[in-house]
Amino acid sequence: MPAFIVLLIIAVAVCYFVGGKKCGICGNGGELKQLPDAFRGIAHAHRPFNNKTSDYYCSSCAPKVAEQEKLVMVARNHDPVQTWPATYKGRIPVVAGSEQPRVHSDWYKEKKVAKGQLLLTCVYLFDRANAVKDIEFDRKTDSEGNYQFTVWRASGIPCKVQ
Ligand SMILES: [Zn+2]
Repeated sequence: MPAFIVLLIIAVAVCYFVGGKKCGICGNGGELKQLPDAFRGIAHAHRPFNNKTSDYYCSSCAPKVAEQEKLVMVARNHDPVQTWPATYKGRIPVVAGSEQPRVHSDWYKEKKVAKGQLLLTCVYLFDRANAVKDIEFDRKTDSEGNYQFTVWRASGIPCKVQ
């Protein structure tokens, strides 16, 4: 392989890893700010931004972030929702037709944190939901260096109960 191609590949790789931080909304680089803490309560996959893995945004996207932050705060002030695990066998008084597609949290070391994010994400997406049913947890092994640990993801079905 010619040397200049090798250098080009290295340059592209370095740019990707070093300068890889991009605005989560428009995808531009430049001066970026970290998303407000409130967004940690919302699963990445359900944030209203294009690049759903980035926690950063640029100054021209700041108004969009402020607008969404208000909705996150509304969700935080939502009344507590009722919850049922997937293992529950009893009858749940679900309002017919109110069930929404299953929502997943991000992966966390603590089940409790994953469940908290799931519930907040559900009311952020569907503000009329007052319950989340069929709650279950997926587990996998993650690692940092040589350290291995279990992480959990919660999921459930937002709905409305009588
Ligand atoms: Zn932007």
